[in-house]
Amino acid sequence: MRLSRSFLPVLKESPSGAEIASHKLMLQAGLVRQTAAGIYAWLPLGQRVLRKVEQIVREEQDRVGQEMLMPTIQSADLWRESGRYDAYGPEMLRITDRHDREMLYGPTNEDMITALFRDDVNSYRDLPRMLYHIQWKFRDERRPRFGVMRGREFLMKDAYSFDLDEAGARLSYYRQLLAYLRTFGRMGIKAVPMQADSGPIGGKLSHEFLVLAPNGESELFYDAAVEEIDFERDGLSYDDADALEALFKEATGVYARTDETHEEDLWADVPAERQRTGRGIEVGHIFYFGDKYSKAMGLKVSGPDGDITPMMGSYGVGVSRLVGAIIEASHDDNGIVWPEAVAPWKVGIVTMRADDEATVAAAEDLYAKLKAAGIETLYDDRDERGGVKLGGMDLMGLPWQIIIGPRGLKNGVVEVKNRRTGEREELTPEAALAKLT
Ligand code: ATP
Ligand code: MG
Ligand code: MG
Ligand code: MG
Repeated sequence: MRLSRSFLPVLKESPSGAEIASHKLMLQAGLVRQTAAGIYAWLPLGQRVLRKVEQIVREEQDRVGQEMLMPTIQSADLWRESGRYDAYGPEMLRITDRHDREMLYGPTNEDMITALFRDDVNSYRDLPRMLYHIQWKFRDERRPRFGVMRGREFLMKDAYSFDLDEAGARLSYYRQLLAYLRTFGRMGIKAVPMQADSGPIGGKLSHEFLVLAPNGESELFYDAAVEEIDFERDGLSYDDADALEALFKEATGVYARTDETHEEDLWADVPAERQRTGRGIEVGHIFYFGDKYSKAMGLKVSGPDGDITPMMGSYGVGVSRLVGAIIEASHDDNGIVWPEAVAPWKVGIVTMRADDEATVAAAEDLYAKLKAAGIETLYDDRDERGGVKLGGMDLMGLPWQIIIGPRGLKNGVVEVKNRRTGEREELTPEAALAKLT
């Protein structure tokens, strides 16, 4: 992409009003703009990152479930059937249509998926199933803040499992646990599963995934032993029930809780020298809630010896919140430092002198070759001072920069800079191309 033709509005000054680094950087680098309290437009740079995060979530969910898409607008009657229309409270945006029918903008989808499943599934042979979708949600948060971290409209991946018994449901839960560890690992962040409350969804088994960050909204209490756990299990099979259970025990067996579930008497059992406190960002949450919705909404399947009420779980990931959380975990004084897996573009090309013919020719040639090789590249071809362009590239955080100017070209070289380490290397254009493809 050529910057001269892009809508990438970078702000010269750090915006006022934003309290934390990720929010500031998302505004300054032009990822999002607020259009109403807690509601954001995603500009091209933000949209590219959001899509990458979403795609990683999708790929890992596809290994355990099947994608579908449910609507954002739901009918109040659906929520009356499950009995939680009145219970949900002011976080729910309630809407009336022209026929005076009560509708709502979905804050979550347990009720809808249970109704859909009930209407089309009759036999125990059709279970187990795991379904997911990635869709916008609305929650009328009392205090939207920190940009997309606590928006009112936000993108969530929510998955739902249906099993014949509790043992099956636990296996579904363990599978999602592994899928989450892999998902966050691929994004370059460490999210620790912590014992959780199940809130208004109600439940029996529940863990939140927290990214450690000094500006996180949750207060954390954990045994230092969690820092030692390697949460990535590349070789593990989703079909190996014993290995999944062992993973669950290891990943959740150590004391790790938020202020919502912290218990002083259990905390006292953690040796003092291993007690850690801190703050974190909730990026995901998994629940096993049994027959709560299936029972309330009359979901039954016929079994070999009579009807069976399926046991369910639900599994959320805050896709848009993750963009903020990743920045919170990965930035420096000059701007964002994207992990390569979610970077909007892998390479940025900067011409130091847009009025120098040889510089422009070399940049055009490299840009064409990188594009042909399928490398996502942002080419700053604007007629701007070199220093301004370099500052913009650092702020936007692309993993690699190729800096081209007359001085280097005289010696036949361009500069390749690694955004994370700051390391610079002088290479011939051919060698630069070889390094980045
Ligand atoms: P929180 O405790 O932050 O209010 P929650 O526990 O209410 O979140 P869940 O119902 O567990 O949220 O939803 C699943 C995921 O959706 C959360 O783990 C979080 O990552 C994300 N999420 C929830 N609320 C918001 C929001 N207002 N803005 C952005 N993401 C959100
Ligand atoms: Mg909430
Ligand atoms: Mg929560
Ligand atoms: Mg939660």
